[in-house]
Amino acid sequence: MNIHEYQAKAVLKSFGAPVADGVPVLSLDDVQKAVDSLPGPLWVVKSQIHAGGRGKGKFVEAEAGEKGGVRLAFSKEDVMTYAKQMLGNHLVTAQTGADGKQVNRLYIEDGADIDRELYLSMLVDRSTSRVAFMVSTEGGMDIEQVAHDTPEKILTLSIDPETGVTDADIAKLNEALKLEGTAAEDGKTLFPILYKAFTEKDMSLLEVNPLIVMENGHLRVLDAKVSFDGNALFRHPDIVDLRDKTEEDEKEIEASEWDLAYIALDGTIGCMVNGAGLAMATMDIIKLYGEEPANFCDVGGGAGKEKVAAAFKIIMKDPNVKGILVNIFGGIMKCDVIAEGVIAAVKETNLAVPLVVRLEGTNVDLGKKIIAESGLNVIPADDLDDAAQKIVNAVKGA
Ligand code: GDP
Ligand code: MG
Repeated sequence: MNIHEYQAKAVLKSFGAPVADGVPVLSLDDVQKAVDSLPGPLWVVKSQIHAGGRGKGKFVEAEAGEKGGVRLAFSKEDVMTYAKQMLGNHLVTAQTGADGKQVNRLYIEDGADIDRELYLSMLVDRSTSRVAFMVSTEGGMDIEQVAHDTPEKILTLSIDPETGVTDADIAKLNEALKLEGTAAEDGKTLFPILYKAFTEKDMSLLEVNPLIVMENGHLRVLDAKVSFDGNALFRHPDIVDLRDKTEEDEKEIEASEWDLAYIALDGTIGCMVNGAGLAMATMDIIKLYGEEPANFCDVGGGAGKEKVAAAFKIIMKDPNVKGILVNIFGGIMKCDVIAEGVIAAVKETNLAVPLVVRLEGTNVDLGKKIIAESGLNVIPADDLDDAAQKIVNAVKGA
């Protein structure tokens, strides 16, 4: 689960991390009060969307001369002007796709005087099974570019869970970030604070880009992106409360309500499968035969007829779907139940795209019989190859 920058900063602040004062704003009516509560003379108006690259982004509705989704304002009037240009409009960044994301929240922040912009992130490093810091002096800009062109400028440091962040770790991080004096002193407290926040809140990613050294020498978290491990959310009702469903794909929300795993992709074939392994194999074989998956919906091991129908309808909602491949192995799940769910959903949705169904496993004969006798236009398939070829041909022919 992802949260907004201002929420991430509030979480980090509760652990003692240095962040600027700021006020989240949901409506233009609240901008004046927010700006009056901050001292100035510099305010930062920040679009809150679940995507990075806001500063370099562009609003779909922008008029000539208007700039991106993070703006420095040197007067209260400018704050209001920028707020009007942002709220309700669609911000396109390198991470949003061409349609952009509607900005429904702003964060008005007390501006900082920046000396240096650094990069810091934390993640769960699978190769070491530890939480790792990644730091670089090259902050504020495209870190992927840095990783690609000058990987030696990024230090990855994994933390021993037995000890937490040690003095030796702190020294390495301070050195990699070239922190000295006041900033190095701040590093001593900041790195353990971030580690504590990360582990106690079950984060899966924390990215501070940039972490800044201010002109007064102190460190500050200037931007913050946090993702939480969905499997641990039950332990953190305070974090669940931060969820902003308007930022999520409507289909993914519906899927999560049915306890279905739905992943949107950008090809043309919708895939209904059970189990992650079969999902991967199905997508691979679609690609092998020359098409791309539009999504996949994993109905899991024990779905009933209603859940199968719900999965089918979610797949159908994606306008890019030009054909559907149902590829199910009936183990605990029975093929006749799948068949009934599919038939019910096809009838309800007036399916207008080709549908290939490949069933295998428990009650497979009964499942195939139900589909064959349904009178619906469903293309049966015998195995994975056959199924993939049939759906690819059907989509290409369409
Ligand atoms: P992003 O573009 O979505 O990553 O948004 P950021 O929060 O990282 O802001 C983008 C850039 O705006 C930063 O890299 C800074 O250069 C600049 N910026 C943000 N806040 C401040 C501030 O308080 N003072 C100054 N001088 N620049 C800021
Ligand atoms: Mg940033």
